[in-house]
Amino acid sequence: MSIRPHQIAGKNAEKTKAHNRRVVLGYLQGRDAGRAEIARASGLSTQTVSNLMAELEAENLVQPAGRRPSARGQPPLVYHFNAKGAAVLGFEVRPDALTMVVTDIGGTPIVTQHERLAQTSPETVLAQMAQMAGAARETPDYPRILGAGLVIPGPFGVEGLSAAGATTLPGWDPLRIPALAEAALGLPVHLDKDATAAALAEGMFGAAQGLSSYAFLYFGSGLGLGVIIQGHPLRGAFGNAGELGHVVIEPGGLPCDCGNLGCLEQYVSRLSVQRHLIARGLLPADTRGTDATIARLLDVDDNALSDWVDQAAKALSRAIGMLENLFDPQSIILGGALPDGLLDLLIARLTLPLGSVSRREGRSQPRVVRGTSGRLTAALGAAALVIHYTVTPRLDAHPMEQPNAFN
Ligand SMILES: [Zn+2]
Repeated sequence: MSIRPHQIAGKNAEKTKAHNRRVVLGYLQGRDAGRAEIARASGLSTQTVSNLMAELEAENLVQPAGRRPSARGQPPLVYHFNAKGAAVLGFEVRPDALTMVVTDIGGTPIVTQHERLAQTSPETVLAQMAQMAGAARETPDYPRILGAGLVIPGPFGVEGLSAAGATTLPGWDPLRIPALAEAALGLPVHLDKDATAAALAEGMFGAAQGLSSYAFLYFGSGLGLGVIIQGHPLRGAFGNAGELGHVVIEPGGLPCDCGNLGCLEQYVSRLSVQRHLIARGLLPADTRGTDATIARLLDVDDNALSDWVDQAAKALSRAIGMLENLFDPQSIILGGALPDGLLDLLIARLTLPLGSVSRREGRSQPRVVRGTSGRLTAALGAAALVIHYTVTPRLDAHPMEQPNAFN
């Protein structure tokens, strides 16, 4: 593990205060509590806690929730985390679609909006995002918006994996985008990879609730991987950990945009099933109606779709064995932009390797499960990023907060 100088340097007062706010909010998210209890639990002085509580109450993020009976003296006033006190925006940009979800800071979705993208230049998409955010803000009784999460497919800022592939977003330079997005939206913006955000969302709201170490295979256009180890996202030195789609799984196999032959993404992705169906005349070349077509083909147990599932399951089984042996996860979760029915069939057809650390007696979790946050998982994950950074006190340094991360 590398330690960057800024990680061990002292924190300035603003950073310390932001950290302490997260400590208090994180504590109250779990339970109602009074100031003295929070001070005892956090190690902060009662005066610091009182100042923070006054500020958080003024911002409507915490609310007094009555007095708690006590054995002696004045019963303490307890406070309650106000999930409805503010909202956050989550945006997912894929090469073919833009999704926005607005949630309260408890993560409950309030509004969702989905648009097809004909053009993916940052300027066009950011203008569209600003328009969606503007419309969301005009809703009456709308709570204050704390910030926006923005997730895009990886990889971030590398030459080694072609930036021209059909599953990437050319021009979305991670060094440039946060500032452009902040200017367009007028809000603080957290940028991350779709798969990492989706993994966080699945942990907060979905199938990974209660798990601390798990992997999330995210079907966007390509195939991404989010890995959470002991509660923390694994991002790598440059934010690019988890480019599972470009791991060669079939040596000498199908050519990939990245230059490799036999990348997993060529066998297991939304793009892969679309190409398979287009080649057999079952889907129009512009891929319109993909989900309805897949649903219809699943209903009639179509052979062409079944062939794709067989091929995909074979490639995916190998990849899952590899992930299990690499990360020792409690479970591997599949989710994102493939219809639930297709993911279920894919999971049912897996032949998981016998030689895996995950094959053991008395498992409490299945080795592979489908996620439950559905199509919105990455957009929810984008919102979850903002919540995570507002409420969760202990965080790994985020690549976007590391000034040298992309150099
Ligand atoms: Zn590739």
